Amino acid sequence: MTVNGKCFEAVFGRPVKVLAEAPGRVNLIGEHTDYNGGYVLPTAIPQKTRVEMAPRDDGLIQIATMNVRGGAQLSYRAGEESRRGLWLDYVQGVTAVLRGRGVAVPGFDARIESTVPLGSGLSSSASLLVALARALRAMLGLSIDDVEIARIAHAAEHDFVGAPVGTMDQMAASLADESTALLIDTRTLAFERIPLPAEAELLVVNSGVTHQHASGDYKARRAECERAAAALGVPQLRDVDEVAEQRIASLPAPLDRRARHVVTENARVLAAVAALRAGDLGRLGELFNASHRSMRDDFEVSVPAVDDLVESAQAQPDVFGARLTGGGFGGSIVALVKRGCAARVGRAVVEAYARVPNRRATVLVGEPVS
Ligand code: ADP
Ligand code: MG
Repeated sequence: MTVNGKCFEAVFGRPVKVLAEAPGRVNLIGEHTDYNGGYVLPTAIPQKTRVEMAPRDDGLIQIATMNVRGGAQLSYRAGEESRRGLWLDYVQGVTAVLRGRGVAVPGFDARIESTVPLGSGLSSSASLLVALARALRAMLGLSIDDVEIARIAHAAEHDFVGAPVGTMDQMAASLADESTALLIDTRTLAFERIPLPAEAELLVVNSGVTHQHASGDYKARRAECERAAAALGVPQLRDVDEVAEQRIASLPAPLDRRARHVVTENARVLAAVAALRAGDLGRLGELFNASHRSMRDDFEVSVPAVDDLVESAQAQPDVFGARLTGGGFGGSIVALVKRGCAARVGRAVVEAYARVPNRRATVLVGEPVS
């Protein structure tokens, strides 16, 4: 059955009971620090996932999404979750985790619609998981706070879907808003909201490059970090401070570079928070640029096309700084831009990027004004 463009009533033949939303996110700084127990600094983007839901009394769970193949509908029975390697796993993950926590999850119908682009590094997955968990919280009257929602969403993605992700995305989808940056200590999940400066805006541009081995490379980086931490005699790289420079330098390559990225990146997150508090956009921009160099040279998660995009953004007037955001091996860049200039800078970098054949970049956040 096609559900393309249909409203909840048209798909399920009855009215919506609850509605919940959660945003996508962009990470400002603090990349590959989350699974090392460190700090991250994401913020919410305007794009969101919306989940409409109504309970059923026959134990059937029917889900329609508007975002996969132009619309798709799948179902399963409450309590009979099993991984299928499909988008439905994100939904099954949430109900399985809730059930594991003693919640009697009934049947329900749900309609999903998202403006977060899927698979572009803006965390459509976490926004879907958090919106679903919020809808279930509302429908079942559960007393679960927003950190707990993030934990449930993380367990669903990590344990059920089987994606080796840290906790940043789910925390951001659950707790971030567009006017603040969310400083998260990923070890304790303690968080703090830091106001974003009114004089700047964010530009996010997708490079269009997707790396077919991205998840394998991500796992390799995680394993390297674990080996580096073990060699340094600490539980996680978070526990190494920057003054341990010499000890890091004595690690065998490439563990020395991997550890140096994590340790310096962690320090850059705290420096970025200080710069935000001081309203020092120049300093914040320098930290973006330094973060990019570290991801490119030490952590080796950038690719030439993304480096070009970053450099072209950095070279534009009214840009404080730019860097690869997200896990890397392709994906998107984030630039800190003088307010009112993001649309112009976005057009300029997209145009410059397209001068190389077969390259097409897309502005995801910061467009358009004209
Ligand atoms: P990202 O989170 O960066 O967008 P992921 O690969 O982590 O990329 O998550 C994308 C996957 O999440 C999709 O392939 C799909 O399985 C699932 N997903 C996200 N949003 C939706 C949606 N609106 N409807 C159905 N599935 C979704
Ligand atoms: Mg994701």
